[in-house]
Amino acid sequence: MNDVYVMLTMDCEAAKIDVSAHGREISGSGPAEYADSETSIRGYVESARALGYPVTLFVHPEVAVAHAALLQELKGGGTCLGLHLHPYKFAGDRYDRDLGAYSAEDQRSILAEAVDVWGEALGFRPIYFRAGYFSANDSTVSALLALGFEGGSLSNPGRILPDHASVWAGAPAYPHRAHEAFRLIEGDTDFIEVPVAVAYGRPVEQGHAGERGFEWPYIPHTYDHSRVIEDILNRFVEEAPGFGTIVTDTHNDQDYADPNHASSQNLKSIIATIEAVCAARNLVVHGVTLDRMCHLVRAA
Ligand SMILES: [Zn+2]
Repeated sequence: MNDVYVMLTMDCEAAKIDVSAHGREISGSGPAEYADSETSIRGYVESARALGYPVTLFVHPEVAVAHAALLQELKGGGTCLGLHLHPYKFAGDRYDRDLGAYSAEDQRSILAEAVDVWGEALGFRPIYFRAGYFSANDSTVSALLALGFEGGSLSNPGRILPDHASVWAGAPAYPHRAHEAFRLIEGDTDFIEVPVAVAYGRPVEQGHAGERGFEWPYIPHTYDHSRVIEDILNRFVEEAPGFGTIVTDTHNDQDYADPNHASSQNLKSIIATIEAVCAARNLVVHGVTLDRMCHLVRAA
């Protein structure tokens, strides 16, 4: 193996003015207003581009409506757009839990509604997905396949967070075809899963979402990101996967337009560490979007 892929993602949350008190209680992430959201998203994409990397945005339906023009513009510049969903932020009266707490039928129904709103706003249907809190159960992949989804970044391997229906202990570490019946093994479906990269050498009792699991490149977190990246890359060298992919995440409530903001600094230091470690180990770094990674895995 001498290729390392870097997939920079952002979960774009509805602004708090659009979220019920119950929704805000379950998930505090997200900007106060859409003006803040636009600054954050544009700043992130432009900062990444300046560093030489494309971005994948998982967009909550209200954000697709609020930022249709911005998102179309970014898509034209090579940004990959997918759907992001917290049921209680989208339809709080009927659905008050995280996605993985619902039956197959309920998941299909709420995802279909979200696809309609998102698709009408942007003029095409989403085919990539990530749920809030990385929440999913064993019906999620089949629900997504039934709605025409082709890939996602659903999993955070090792995460144990049952309060948000997000348990990924033992999940595969690398991009793979998802299994239609069991989320923790590889399968043969046409749905490509690209997991977040986690540092198995750096376990945590309480991560940023309150989870047990492992440190990972969640950009706003105060982890020692250089150590996290080194741990992940050491594993890639040892295990030589076909698609060693460093998947990062962040939210549209971080001011990436401000180069001195802690998250802007973390983004720069994560990229600098990836490039330095890869250079020292003769690894070639490729920035990828989710659609590109799905294509690579499907073609392999
Ligand atoms: Zn979210």
